[in-house]
Amino acid sequence: MTRVLVINSGSSSLKLQILDTAVEVELAWALVERIGEPVGSLTVRRSELTGSPAAERTAEAGFPDHTAALARVLELAEELRVHPADLGVEAIGHRVVHGGPAFHEPVEVTAEVEADIEKLELLAPLHNPANLRGIRVARELLPGLPHVAVFDTGFFHTMPAAAHTYAIDRETAREWDLRRYGFHGTSHEFVSHRVADVLGRPYDEINQIVLHLGNGASASAIAGGRPMDTSMGLTPLEGLVMGTRPGDLDPGLIIHLIRDRGMSPEDVSTLLNRRSGLEGLSGARDFRELLTRVDDNDEDARLAYEVVIHRLRRYIGGYWAVLGRVDAITFTAGVGENVARLRADALSTMSGWGVEIDRDANENGTGERVISTPDSRVAVLVVPTDEELAIARACDTVLGLGT
Ligand code: ADP
Repeated sequence: MTRVLVINSGSSSLKLQILDTAVEVELAWALVERIGEPVGSLTVRRSELTGSPAAERTAEAGFPDHTAALARVLELAEELRVHPADLGVEAIGHRVVHGGPAFHEPVEVTAEVEADIEKLELLAPLHNPANLRGIRVARELLPGLPHVAVFDTGFFHTMPAAAHTYAIDRETAREWDLRRYGFHGTSHEFVSHRVADVLGRPYDEINQIVLHLGNGASASAIAGGRPMDTSMGLTPLEGLVMGTRPGDLDPGLIIHLIRDRGMSPEDVSTLLNRRSGLEGLSGARDFRELLTRVDDNDEDARLAYEVVIHRLRRYIGGYWAVLGRVDAITFTAGVGENVARLRADALSTMSGWGVEIDRDANENGTGERVISTPDSRVAVLVVPTDEELAIARACDTVLGLGT
């Protein structure tokens, strides 16, 4: 039995979970939001799976930085007897968004690893600094335990060069490590393994397309376990339409905004990271709100939904051509797992290719399941992702725990 604390540190948030990798259950959970603002919120929850009744502590207070936030989480966790020491936690796993050219596999964090992650901040200025802050704070406040960094880019390291190479001047690309890295790798890897299990087929014999559709969204094409392509690139901006990001667009648009329209690079970054996607197209903050507006016949929301579906179809079709044969198409993450209408609409043009959705299974089922008809040549699935469990298991593997 191995118990792992998994930490996902964002620029103004901290999410923690203690998981038992042997029985795949979550024992405790904590979330701090609005770190650095005058008033932030904090919740620590104990699951009844600890053997004690479920319980929760909340706090509304100013958390000036991640150190203050984690210190308060640990205090409340102690009150609930779910401090890592109380639950026999053996390792701490950290989500790190960008592994750059250096990190392909999860690694135990040392001072040298920290320094190498710091060097990647130029490639991922919106994500890695916050991830690294989480690692440093946790190592300071929980010094007796091994810490492991798990990279979102790792799984896509083995993509063929044809898929990860940008067609720009090769010297420039080499000098600055400009290539497509891919993100959400932990999720694509986890989900694609589950697909093989659900279908009862060997992982290395099936070709699959995985659609991770949450606030961030990405697609992957996986042939016999090897990633052949993915939709995110140097940064998580490329690819599908997302909550606040546009996905693919003409790079000429960026040059135009800066050179001809007087926008600063910072303004463009804000436009593309925060004011695009569903939010930019319709003003909806998330997919749930978008659907409500679509049902209210809001024109902007309807167009946003159509743009999302169109882009999905383009990626599915493109990946089909890359793979040659597709055995499974799988939907995961908040939107992929919950929005039956999107799954049906994205695939509605593909019945000629042997994709037949079972309406009842699509609309009424829950959890991990096949939603295609028995006659469908391609299996269509819904598989809930669990990035935290995947990170916890990676700690097991790296540290040789639980063996
Ligand atoms: P992330 O981890 O990238 O923040 P999630 O995977 O949690 O995102 O997905 C969040 C998205 O899923 C939001 O757009 C949210 O509205 C959408 N979502 C979650 N549950 C539902 C639901 N039941 N119906 C429609 N959309 C949902």
